[in-house]
Amino acid sequence: MRLTTRGQCRLCGQTFNKAQMTRHIKSCLAKRGLGSNMLLLVQDRSGLFWVYVTADASIALLSVDWALRNLWLECCGHMSAFSDISVMYLEHPESGLPGMGSTELGMDVSLKKAMQSAETLKYEYDFGSTTQLTIRRLAENVSPVNDENLAVLARNDLPQINCLVCEKPATILMVEDWEPEPYCEACWSDSDERMTLPVINSPRMGVCGYDGPSVEP
Ligand SMILES: [Zn+2]
Ligand SMILES: [Zn+2]
Ligand SMILES: [Zn+2]
Repeated sequence: MRLTTRGQCRLCGQTFNKAQMTRHIKSCLAKRGLGSNMLLLVQDRSGLFWVYVTADASIALLSVDWALRNLWLECCGHMSAFSDISVMYLEHPESGLPGMGSTELGMDVSLKKAMQSAETLKYEYDFGSTTQLTIRRLAENVSPVNDENLAVLARNDLPQINCLVCEKPATILMVEDWEPEPYCEACWSDSDERMTLPVINSPRMGVCGYDGPSVEP
């Protein structure tokens, strides 16, 4: 995999890497004036997968959870949680799960409230084969770009993953071994009926049974 991914700003059509995009999208969005939305950057631990969204600050964390599941995560209805250093937000708080000393609250808390004193929230999907994301607030009082509560402003292009055999772009991941092995259609022979998952633009690619689809809000 390449170490960085690029993506297109959907407000103006220009392409940037993530470091450039943070600067760019703030200024591109500022041209639209003020509003009551937040600009958020959500990314995975590798930094290859990222999405810039504007979100209505009054929506509940549950709506963000739902959007992230549709975009990147949902495989078999695993549990998820948002957290900062002292609070953990769960769909069903006080359920005796991994709180580890944190105060547990419900996901009915608004984004604005949850991010009042925390610039960054951690988000975890699936407490077994966990996909961990960070949600960083880049700006407040920005304009919404459409009528939706949440809108994607930019998103990474699919990282380049090459076929182990011919080095052309891979579409299939063989996931039976510890490290998923990528193949293209031409080089893949399914004579052994081995377990595969599709190459897909998500930080959960190759994990558990994740096979998309990736649906944007
Ligand atoms: Zn732009
Ligand atoms: Zn799963
Ligand atoms: Zn190949």
